Amino acid sequence: MPSLSLSWFRQICEIVIVVTVCLSHTTSIAQSKEATAVLRAGATRVDITPQKRVKMAGYGSRTGFSEGVHDPLCARVVAFENDGKRVVLVSTDVLGFYNGTDEYLRKAILEEFEMKPSELFLCGIHTHSAPTLTIDKEKTDPNNLEYTELLKDKLIKVIRRAIGDTSPVHIGAAVGYCPVGANRRELKLDSSRASSIELGRNPYGPTDKEVLVVKVAEPDGKPIAVLFDYATHSTCLGPKNYTISGDVLGLAEQFVEKILDGNVIAPGFAGASGDIDPWFRVLPGFSTEPGWIPEPVLLGTVLGEEVVHVFRGIAKVSAGGEIKTGFIALGLPGKPLNETDVKKDCPPARLNLTAARVGDIAFVGIGCEVLTEIGMRIKAGSPYKHTFVITHCNGAAGYLPPAHLYIEGGYEVKSSPFAHQAADMVVKQAVKMLHEL
Ligand SMILES: [Zn+2]
Repeated sequence: MPSLSLSWFRQICEIVIVVTVCLSHTTSIAQSKEATAVLRAGATRVDITPQKRVKMAGYGSRTGFSEGVHDPLCARVVAFENDGKRVVLVSTDVLGFYNGTDEYLRKAILEEFEMKPSELFLCGIHTHSAPTLTIDKEKTDPNNLEYTELLKDKLIKVIRRAIGDTSPVHIGAAVGYCPVGANRRELKLDSSRASSIELGRNPYGPTDKEVLVVKVAEPDGKPIAVLFDYATHSTCLGPKNYTISGDVLGLAEQFVEKILDGNVIAPGFAGASGDIDPWFRVLPGFSTEPGWIPEPVLLGTVLGEEVVHVFRGIAKVSAGGEIKTGFIALGLPGKPLNETDVKKDCPPARLNLTAARVGDIAFVGIGCEVLTEIGMRIKAGSPYKHTFVITHCNGAAGYLPPAHLYIEGGYEVKSSPFAHQAADMVVKQAVKMLHEL
């Protein structure tokens, strides 16, 4: 027995030595990788304000041309690169990439820069006061066709500038809260007490109030970019407005850049906001009443001030930061538009999902208009402390409501191309992708 024990003890010692050697080898590889891998970023923007009168996107009832500009539209880019891996985040002051323009523009960008689909987040802020994008020569105004082509050229140029001008950076993130967005699914009762869900204001409905902010700074602390994510439609302005504007999110971007001396790029991203409108919604224009602060300016400023508050409170930034990305084109259970029921033999509805991680900050891009509860579930299931859920990203597939809302219906459910099972599948897939990063 004693000799057996001794042999057993020796074996254990050998195993411990081997494991220790393996561990120290792994650690040294990790350390040397960390030492050589440097997170770099480039940030820039380009003006995309239309120079000619254009048809405007977002309301079918608005048929005339734009009349003047209240505030400029921009495309803002932050490109991260580390150890040969990259992710390019583009925030564009447009409604979104509808009418086939998503595939058209993404293809052009991906080919130009030999990027993988997972490396590009092409996002719209969903302002309803920007030009309609189109590539359809038959159905639209030549000015809109020209605008879309110009936008393509500008996106390629601005991405080239961001990718070509990266330098070592440190990054950090923090969270604030903002009351600008309100749930818009309002319960109405008619004279016979029959109920319906109408677009309005439901102050008791679920609303993701989080303002996620990422600070990107040079190693000496000088900021180069502030990315923020907030769940609201940019629909302070309604179909009677004919003035070009970034609306709430665009005005918040402009406010942050103005306060932070104009050289810091502040891309805003629309969070899961399919059922969230600004507190003041669908107004006919910018009020010029003496003493009145126009609502889009007021709400954009409230959001912008919170972004700056959070940004100024980010004391901890870190160097390094591994980049990982993932992309999947899902085929989800579909349903006919304008119906709440699933019909048999309905073809699947397509949806692009993109996920990326830069250090310990995660991004999920969803190619449709996601209702707020879905975004909150993805954040709750994410293994990361800070997860940007970005809607209108790499696609424009329409509304994606959670299953329980199919019982009460309403605009988002009726106009959705997805059947009620789709949302759970998207949450599951997004969380899976986050865990695999
Ligand atoms: Zn919308």
